[in-house]
Amino acid sequence: MEAASRDELREVQNSRLQATVQNAYENVEFYRETFDELGLTPDDIESVDDLSKLPFTTKEDFRDNYPTGMFAVDMEDVIRIHASSGTTGKPKIVSYTQDDLDVWSKAVARCLAAAGIGSDDIVQNAYGYGLFTGGLGLHQGVEELGATVIPIGGGNTQRQVEMMNDLGSDVISCTPSYALYLAEVAEDMGIDIRDLPLRTVIFGAEPCTEPMRNEIEDRLGVTGIDIYGLSEIVGPGVSIECEAQDGLHIWEDYFYPEVIDPNTGDPVEEGEEGELVLTTLAKDALPVLRYRTGDLTTLDYDTCECGRTCVRMDNITGRSDDLIIVRGVNFYPSEVESVVLEFDEIAPHYRIDLRREGNLDQLEVTVELTEDFAGSISDLKNRIGKRLSNVLSFTPDELNLVEYGNIARTEVGKVQRVYDHRGQ
Ligand SMILES: [Zn+2]
Repeated sequence: MEAASRDELREVQNSRLQATVQNAYENVEFYRETFDELGLTPDDIESVDDLSKLPFTTKEDFRDNYPTGMFAVDMEDVIRIHASSGTTGKPKIVSYTQDDLDVWSKAVARCLAAAGIGSDDIVQNAYGYGLFTGGLGLHQGVEELGATVIPIGGGNTQRQVEMMNDLGSDVISCTPSYALYLAEVAEDMGIDIRDLPLRTVIFGAEPCTEPMRNEIEDRLGVTGIDIYGLSEIVGPGVSIECEAQDGLHIWEDYFYPEVIDPNTGDPVEEGEEGELVLTTLAKDALPVLRYRTGDLTTLDYDTCECGRTCVRMDNITGRSDDLIIVRGVNFYPSEVESVVLEFDEIAPHYRIDLRREGNLDQLEVTVELTEDFAGSISDLKNRIGKRLSNVLSFTPDELNLVEYGNIARTEVGKVQRVYDHRGQ
């Protein structure tokens, strides 16, 4: 399926979509009501081109139907539950039948194979195990592929380095920020990760800019491969970069992608940036139609140099929810990140604090000097400040340069870079 002709793929998508819609209509009250209100029946959705007749599913729909209202099967047929931690409110609860887990495992195994990983590789899985889909999702994909998985989970960074050293892990899966932290900890232990057999980092769960990827590749002496997924759709394994590192292949026989204008909901022209919307095509316990991911990307339908025909999405460097608005100026944290990574004198860590003083928003950016920094701080501060003003079209009210190690590292879960103290 990864290299099927577009026509062949379309046929599979259409027949799987019909089954998915039927399942959603018959077994999920939320979807039945949606169809009924619009005067639609499952027969009106014959092909993926008909999807636009349907409204979007949103994270609020998951919240409104908490905990199990979106499920299409009885608990008796559910063999696994996961949950995605919302930053606010209740988590989104997701479920899987045995068939769903099989599809998920295959999707992740495909991802790993596309990244050049094979049965003789040792994959150290540093994603958190538990309700988060990252840990178990990656784990079962490695097993499906027949490679070796070390289920070390998040944290325990010194032990991670020891395991890498002692067992010769050639692949590690973790967040991009954690990959850099690992390199720092290894250095403190007197080990240069570049000397170890490690050759690939599969990173995901956090947005990662191109300069950040380069930093990871340099510091760890690896190829950095971006994997993408979200619990509401399945977990990690929706898409991944192949060895060409030129966009993430979406497994379109399992997940149907659309890109929309986040403001109007209309589809954008091919190649234009917009919000990714996904429909599951092969999930029984939790069929999801037109889910708004909040992730901004573009789609490229040209055949990749690897020979795969499955569409490629651009790396996610921003979520529509992440947009920071300060005194009427909009920017994404990734724009700050790209500036931070331009300067050799500062470490690849930063934090953004937003405050309100009186009625005025204040933007504070904090960056960290490298361990061996010896130059003039005021000169460096000037240069960083100027560059930030250029890129953001906005001058931060405060720019702090702190000593190496003063910005908290995240060992488990996703790194937090933006602290919004407004409205508190
Ligand atoms: Zn490719």
